[in-house]
Amino acid sequence: MVSTNQTLAERDLSVLWHPCTQMKDHENIPIIPIKKGQGVWLEDIEGNRYLDAISSWWVNLFGHANPHINAALKDQLDTLEQVIFAGFTHEPAIQLAEALVALSPKGLSRCFYADNGSAAVEVALKMSFHYWRNKGQTHKTKFITLENSYHGETLGALAVGNVALYKETYAPLLMDVITVPGPDCYYREPGESWADYSIRRFALMEQVLQRHAETACAVIIEPLVQCAGSMRMYDPIYLKLLRAACDKYNIHLIADEIAVGFGRSGTLFACEQAEISPDFMCLSKGLTGGYLPLSAVLTTDQVYQAFYDDYQNLTAFLHSHSYTGNALACRAGLATLEIFQQQPILENNSQLAAFMAKIAARFNEHPNVAEVRQTGMIVAIELVKNKHTRETYPWQERRGQRVYQYALSKGVLLRPLGNVIYFMPPYIITEEQLLMLVDVAWDGIQQAVKD
Ligand code: PMP
Repeated sequence: MVSTNQTLAERDLSVLWHPCTQMKDHENIPIIPIKKGQGVWLEDIEGNRYLDAISSWWVNLFGHANPHINAALKDQLDTLEQVIFAGFTHEPAIQLAEALVALSPKGLSRCFYADNGSAAVEVALKMSFHYWRNKGQTHKTKFITLENSYHGETLGALAVGNVALYKETYAPLLMDVITVPGPDCYYREPGESWADYSIRRFALMEQVLQRHAETACAVIIEPLVQCAGSMRMYDPIYLKLLRAACDKYNIHLIADEIAVGFGRSGTLFACEQAEISPDFMCLSKGLTGGYLPLSAVLTTDQVYQAFYDDYQNLTAFLHSHSYTGNALACRAGLATLEIFQQQPILENNSQLAAFMAKIAARFNEHPNVAEVRQTGMIVAIELVKNKHTRETYPWQERRGQRVYQYALSKGVLLRPLGNVIYFMPPYIITEEQLLMLVDVAWDGIQQAVKD
């Protein structure tokens, strides 16, 4: 029997349970079986194409079926697929760690692998807590996080996040954290700059750091863009002030660069724009070019040394995933970094980002758009009911979902976060494709705001 979109969708819906989905929605909205990917395009089983404007959940950097990454993986597949990473090692893991250490902000000299973003966050939280414990500072048990932050959905990562949609249901299961009002520049006063607002809001963080210096292990933050929190953005000055204050109060700084790392923010890592080095940097998503699940936590020699001791002293860091440092994933990571090395990716991105800024500016004039904002290769459009009061549409109306469905019917995969429509395309997108994207988004918004 020949498979069609419908037959595969039926089979899928009889056995599968998808992430971030009310499965009942699929009674009305067809699930799309993808057969193959090529560059920015995804193709379904019947040959319909979709421009992947969100890089398949922000992971894909250089397109689907990228020839360079494909070749590396084919070679790796015939060499070594996976080996236990305790007591054993392999070249792709070593080379990738060397490259990450060389590329990351100064002072980060150690790489610990895990296999997805949330796991990296768990590792950073545990390492920070355990560091203080090994140093005899057992009163340090708390984490500080920002309003509207997102760090993943395992219980530890969820606890340090602050997006109610994901967190509220599980609140009784989660550790207590200290949540600080954030620097989200959507709320700045008219005429106030991002930098001024970010500085003003930092005062609230400083107070909390001072108050909790005795008991806080670390502050965890998404540098420059709170991605899952509706792509809300702030100025690098906030990170600079935060780094200085964390030093002052003896609190670790965990930079969650899972979404913004690898060029997404305009620099290779977002922390570079503030010229800071965190104590822990979490990486995933783009780390393998969007091919395979892998994450890394980079940390300092100071942290590493606090665990390095005779076995009998029981100070070792125990956190183990079966697929830690998977050889195929590490090789995909290496191939991804080779592309950064061989081609002027960041320079090209800065031109693409300028083009995106130019063509997205028209949304500023739209009567239902409160703000168009951008950081590097991320552009977000805030859809509202009333431009002047910024009154939002009731979430139940699912206006963003209407944009999603309209865009799909026009061959574009946009997946708004609530009523925020955003572009986060693979870096190989062309100007022509960006123009198409913007046109479809515009028409989608027109449809979504009707009645
Ligand atoms: N941190 C940030 C900033 C993220 O954006 C995400 C994923 N959206 C995660 C952590 C979690 O990563 P994963 O989905 O791989 O668990």
